[in-house]
Amino acid sequence: MPQTNLAGPYLLAHPIINNEFGQIAGGVYALGTTNSRGAFRAQYIGRADFDLNEQLNDWVGSYQYFEAEFVPDAQAAFEEECQLYHKFGGNELLDNKIHPICTEHGWRCPIPECPYNETAQ
Ligand SMILES: [Zn+2]
Repeated sequence: MPQTNLAGPYLLAHPIINNEFGQIAGGVYALGTTNSRGAFRAQYIGRADFDLNEQLNDWVGSYQYFEAEFVPDAQAAFEEECQLYHKFGGNELLDNKIHPICTEHGWRCPIPECPYNETAQ
């Protein structure tokens, strides 16, 4: 799997989420499954601008495992989400069918060759 700063994989279950990511802060996460050797395979990428814990808890039951990290602010969350989206194969491999967008602030993807990068427009 691609190298990321995400911690995990962890079982996507309320007590584990609250134990590992209990504070209220923004973050990014990958949801997915693991193979027989325990290696994580991402199926969905997401970001939480303010409350990673709440978002992860909302996903319980939809995916088996997750990896996540806290980030310092909403822009960092957006840019890290873009990085993860590309690292984990974009819409060809993920359940995310569209590239991450930020309509509120107009932030663009940090990947230079991406059509969503600011130099592309
Ligand atoms: Zn991109």
